[in-house]
Amino acid sequence: MAKTSGRKAAKGGKAKNSANRKTHGKNGSKTAGKFVYLFGAKTDGNGAMKPLLGGKGANLAEMCRIGLPVPPGFTITTEVCTYYYEHNRSYPPALRAQMEAGLAAIERQTGKKLGDLSNPLLVSVRSGARDSMPGMMDTILNLGLNDNTVEALARKTGNPRFAWDCYRRFIQMYGDVVLGVQKGVGEDHEPFETVIEGLKHDRHHQAIEDTKLTVDDLKELVVRFKALVRERSGREFPTSPWDQLMGAVGAVFGSWMNDRAIVYRRKYNIPSEWGTAVNVQAMVYGNTGDKSGSGVAFTRNPANGLKEFYGEFLINAQGEDVVAGVRTPEPVSELKNHLPKAHHELERIRQILEKHFRDVQDFEFTIEDGVVYMLQTRNGKRTAMAALKFSMDMFKEKLIDWKTAVMRNPADQLDQLLAPVFDTRELSAAKAIATGLPAGPGAASGQIYLNADRAVAAAEKGQPVLLVRLETSPEDLRGMIAAEGILTARGGVSSHAALVARQMGKVCVCGAAALDVDYGKRTVTVDGQTLKEGDFLSIDGTAGKVYAGRVNTAPSEIVAGLINGDDGAKKTEKFKNFQQLMKWCDQATRMGVRTNADTPEQAANAMAFGAQGIGLCRTEHMFFEGDRIDAMREMILAETLEERKAALAKLLPYQREDFAGIFRVLKGSPATIRFLDPPLHEFLPHTEQQQEDLADKIHVPVGRIHSRVEQLHEFNPMLGFRGCRLGIGFPEISAMQARAVFEAAAMVQKEGIKVRPEIMIPLVGFKKELDLQLEVVRQAARDVEAEQKVKLTFSVGTMIEIPRGSLMADEIAQSAEFFSFGTNDLTQTALGMSRDDSGSFLPHYAELEIVKKNPFASIDVAGVGQLVDIAVKRGRATRKDLKLGICGEHGGDPDSIHFFEKVGLDYVSCSPFRVPVARLAAAQAALSSK
Ligand code: PEP
Ligand code: MG
Repeated sequence: MAKTSGRKAAKGGKAKNSANRKTHGKNGSKTAGKFVYLFGAKTDGNGAMKPLLGGKGANLAEMCRIGLPVPPGFTITTEVCTYYYEHNRSYPPALRAQMEAGLAAIERQTGKKLGDLSNPLLVSVRSGARDSMPGMMDTILNLGLNDNTVEALARKTGNPRFAWDCYRRFIQMYGDVVLGVQKGVGEDHEPFETVIEGLKHDRHHQAIEDTKLTVDDLKELVVRFKALVRERSGREFPTSPWDQLMGAVGAVFGSWMNDRAIVYRRKYNIPSEWGTAVNVQAMVYGNTGDKSGSGVAFTRNPANGLKEFYGEFLINAQGEDVVAGVRTPEPVSELKNHLPKAHHELERIRQILEKHFRDVQDFEFTIEDGVVYMLQTRNGKRTAMAALKFSMDMFKEKLIDWKTAVMRNPADQLDQLLAPVFDTRELSAAKAIATGLPAGPGAASGQIYLNADRAVAAAEKGQPVLLVRLETSPEDLRGMIAAEGILTARGGVSSHAALVARQMGKVCVCGAAALDVDYGKRTVTVDGQTLKEGDFLSIDGTAGKVYAGRVNTAPSEIVAGLINGDDGAKKTEKFKNFQQLMKWCDQATRMGVRTNADTPEQAANAMAFGAQGIGLCRTEHMFFEGDRIDAMREMILAETLEERKAALAKLLPYQREDFAGIFRVLKGSPATIRFLDPPLHEFLPHTEQQQEDLADKIHVPVGRIHSRVEQLHEFNPMLGFRGCRLGIGFPEISAMQARAVFEAAAMVQKEGIKVRPEIMIPLVGFKKELDLQLEVVRQAARDVEAEQKVKLTFSVGTMIEIPRGSLMADEIAQSAEFFSFGTNDLTQTALGMSRDDSGSFLPHYAELEIVKKNPFASIDVAGVGQLVDIAVKRGRATRKDLKLGICGEHGGDPDSIHFFEKVGLDYVSCSPFRVPVARLAAAQAALSSK
C-alpha cells in the first residue's frame, strides 16, 4: 500500500451506447413469435431494430428500404441466440418453419433452389451483433455446395473454375468455423493454408497466387481439404445443404461464446445477454472472373478524416480475401481503371449512404459480372483524428448540427489526439527501412515480438512492445492489446490488424511487404539486417513508415499548442477543430471540470486544457520535494508537542509558497486543498540503510527512528490512523496547513489576484470529526486575518469517501459547505476491496463477470453509485446550495461522468491530461440527459 505515491487506477473501458430495447421488449427467452425477418423484395425490419436484428441485419433491411441493391435474405433474431443459451443450445420449435419460409422467399427472388441440381442456390451465413465486433464472429460463404451441386453450379455458370473455387472456400470456412479445424497450439499457420501451400508446391513448384490455381488444382484441393477435415475432426464433411445450414447457424450462435468474442466483449463492455443475430443471404459472387470483385470501402477516410472515397478491392475475389490480408488489395480509386461503371455506381451509393445515415459509412460490396451489390453498411470505426474532422466537416456541410457533432467524438478516444508523434529532429536522423499502409495513426517505438503470447509476457515485464506479424487474426487480440503498436507484412487498410488497431487507438502499419518475418527463427529481416525478438523498431502509423531502432516521440499539435504555446501548432486544422469542439462542449455542459493537481505546473497544464480550478490538491505530495521530507520526518519523529511544532514551523514556509504558486496560476478559480491524508509511516524510511542516513542527517539516534517506524506499523493502514484522524490526533498539523493556506491567500490577494481556497477534510464519517477540524481552520483564519489585516473568502467542506459519510450526509452537511466524493476510497470501503491489492483477484472477477468493469476505474453504479446518490440527496436536503464534486479517479472516466451528471454533481475533477476527455464526456452526458 502506498497512499502517498499518487496511485492511479487503470483507465476505464469504452463507453457503450445504452441498451435500446424499445422495439421488441426484453431480449429474453421467448418460445413463440417472430424469429425470422425477411429483407429483399419484402422487408420486415429497419435500421432502428439493431437490438433484435443486430447491426448487420438492421442495416441490410434499411438499405433495402432505400432502394440499394442488396441480395435477398433473412435475419434470425438475437432472441434466438438468448434462447439457444438458455435452453441447452437448442432452438425454439417455431424456428425451423420460419427459416424454411425465409429460404423459400430467397429462392423465389433468385430463381435458384438450395441443393438443386440444375440451378443451385448458395447462401452466406454471417453473424451480426448489435454493435459490430470486427473479426470476432464468424462467417460462412458458399453454403449449399456438395459434390453434386458444385457440378450443377459449374454447368449453370459455364465456369468450372469459379464453381470449384467456391467449393474449396466453403470447405475451408466451414471446416474452420463449424468443424473446428483450426491452428493448434504451436502452429503458426492455418492448417488449410498449409494444405494450399503444399499443393502449390507439389503441382507448381512455387508460390503462385490463388487466382492462378487451375480447375484440376482446385478439385485436388477439395480432396485434400476433405481429408484434412476427416483427419482433424474425425467427421466426414456434411453433404446435405439443410444440415450445412443448421450447422452454420449453430456455429454462429456458438461463436458468441468463443474466447475471442468474450475477450472483445470484456474490453468493450458489451453484455453477453445481447446475443448475436444470424443473417442468411443469397450469395453473389466476386470470384467469377475479371469483371467481378469484392471490396470494403468507407465514405470518407477513417484514418485522417479526409473527404475522399476510401477503401480497397480485389478483382476476382470473395469478400473474405480482402479482409483476410492474404492478397494485398488495390485502392478503390483504381477501380475506375478496371470497372468504370461499377466505380461510378459505388460513388453514387456512397453519396446516398451519407445523405441517408448522416454519418460516415463502412460498407462491403461485391461486383458480380459488373453489377454492384451491397452486403453490409455500418457507421465506420474511426480514429479520434478522423472523428474530429468528420464531425466538423459534416457540420459545415449541414449534414449534422453542433450537438450531434459533439456526440460524434467518442470521449474515451479523445486522448488519442493528445498522443505523441515522433520528435521531428530525431525522425530526420532516423532511417526509414520499410513502408507500409498507414493503418492506425500515431507514433510508437518498441521491442519486437512475433507472437501474441510472448508480446503479452514482455509487456507484463514493462517492455514497450511492437507486435510484428505476417498478418494478424483475432487470436492475436491479446497481443495487440498489450502492444504499443502493430506492424504487419501483409494485408491492407481494412485487414484485421488495421480495423482492430484503429478501434483500439493503436498505432499500426500494415502491409510492409519488405519485412521478411520468420516465425520459426523469431526474426525479422529487413533492409539487409536481421532483428531478433526484443530488438527495437519504430513505426509511424500516420505516414505508414517503419524506422530502424528507437525513435523518441514528441507531443501532439494540441499539446504543443495549448501547453507549450507553439504558434505553428495553433495554426493546424487539428488544433482549430479541437478548440471548436471544446467550445461547443462548454455550450452544452452543465457540470464543471476541475483538475487534481498538486503543483503550479500541473495546475497550469490543466487550466490550459480548460479546467475550471482545482478539485483536489493532495497536500502530502508537497512534502516529498527537496528538504521538506526531512522536516516532515522530524515532525513525525517528534516526541513532544514543542518538538512537533518546531518541525511544523519548518514546513510552513514551503506549504505557503506552494499554495501561493497555485493561487497565482488559478487567478481566482477555486482550489480545493485537502489536508494531510496518508498514514504517517509512508513518510518514513523503511530500510536499515535509509534509517541510518536519516539519523545522521537530522541528528537523532537511529534506534528512535527504528522504534517510531515500528510504533506506526499498522495491519490495515488504509483503515488506520489516516485522513482526518491525523488532524484530530495532532491538531497542530491541521493548524499549520490552514495557516499556510491563509497566509498564501493573504499574500496573493495583496498582489491583486483573487483567491478562492476551499479547505477539504478527508475521510470524515462523523460530523464531530469535521467540527473539530473546522474549529482549527477557523481559528487559523481569524489569526491570519488579524495579523495580515485582510478579509479572506474561503469555504470548508469534506470528502465523502467512507460509507458512513454518505449515510450521515444530512448531518455532516450542517457543517460542510461542500462535499467532494473520494470515489477511490469510497469504492475501497464500500466493496471492502483494497484499492492497492485488488489486482490479484479483479481480473479473474472480470473474467467471471462478477464485475463488468474495474470498479476502481469506472464507478460501480449499482453499489457505490447508491452511496453517492444517497449523500447527494441527504446533503442537499440539509443545505440546498451544497456544492458537490468528485475527485476520485472516476472523475476522468466517461461512463462514470455520465452517472455523475445523472445524480446532479456540480463538477468532476481529474488529472490534467484527462481534462479534455472529461469536458467532452460532461458535455455528452448533459446532451444525452436532455
Ligand atoms: C479518493 O479516495 O477518491 C481520493 C480522491 O483521495 P485519495 O485518492 O488521495 O485517497
Ligand atoms: Mg481518499
